[in-house]
Amino acid sequence: AKGAGRNRVRVFSPDLRSAVEQKVLVAAELQEAIDDGQLVLHYQPVLHLPTGDVTGVEALVRWQHPQRGLLAPCDFIPLAEQNGMVVPLTRWVLGEAARQTAEWERAGMPLVTGVNISAAHFGTGSLVADVHDALEAADLAPERLVLELTETSVAEDPLRAAAQFAQLRIAGVEVAIDDFGSGFSSLSQLVSIPAGVLKLDRSLIAGTETRRSESAAAIAAVVGLAKACGMRSLVEGVETADQLALVRELGCTLAQGYFIARPMPAAQLPQWLAEHGG
Ligand code: C2E
Ligand code: CA
Ligand code: CA
Ligand code: CA
Repeated sequence: AKGAGRNRVRVFSPDLRSAVEQKVLVAAELQEAIDDGQLVLHYQPVLHLPTGDVTGVEALVRWQHPQRGLLAPCDFIPLAEQNGMVVPLTRWVLGEAARQTAEWERAGMPLVTGVNISAAHFGTGSLVADVHDALEAADLAPERLVLELTETSVAEDPLRAAAQFAQLRIAGVEVAIDDFGSGFSSLSQLVSIPAGVLKLDRSLIAGTETRRSESAAAIAAVVGLAKACGMRSLVEGVETADQLALVRELGCTLAQGYFIARPMPAAQLPQWLAEHGG
């Protein structure tokens, strides 16, 4: 019938009549993706600069779409944030990341895994319970997870954010401020957020290609600020040997980027670590 035909229309199809219709379809398709195991996590190593060891990874979601192939998060996360699917999606990510991290730990590879949390989820109030459930199901220690939050998600409702930070901290889960320096960063808010890690947006290190001394000064200032607030700093988007040398010189604690490694499927990580992990 007409309804069945309509259900066969896939995401992003140009003949969709309205944005509302597309949102509903994407929501249904995402639910199907979660249920049918179409989502996968890739993991990007994080290098601890003082020791040269890989001490962590960031979990990055992809959608192995039956028709469209491997989709990047930018193709579906913004939609999921609009149609309410980002909370169930993140529950899946938390569960899978915790399961995988526990498996690696049992195999003698203790890593700290970063998971990206959307502002929408931070605002619901179920985040603390969702994290707790994931840890319990995987039998994983809370210190093994880092929740990555952007400044905007924190800035939306600072009071609520502070309460959730406090609860997460009591639960033993670390929080990182993600993409710092990508928007209009509020320093006063940063000072009041009890986060353990400050992730410097990759635009900061990218700037060293054209305006080296100014960009290096900006990174040095943010690293100093992080230190003064008792946070470790992590520079994202390190793409060259030069940039890695620079961030080391500037006193950053952690680095992540294509020069160290691209995100990879979980199955490739043990061998990569054996060859590069230090
Ligand atoms: P992000 O949290 O800033 O993640 C880092 C992104 O930078 C990743 O893109 C990674 O592949 C990319 N990247 C890493 N090193 C380099 C580098 O040296 N150069 C360049 N140019 N890029 C680098 P990816 O995997 O496409 O993820 C994009 C964004 O999607 C993430 O940005 C994050 O905001 C979001 N995302 C990914 N997974 C999730 C998830 O599970 N939940 C939510 N809510 N968002 C997610
Ligand atoms: Ca992130
Ligand atoms: Ca980031
Ligand atoms: Ca980002």
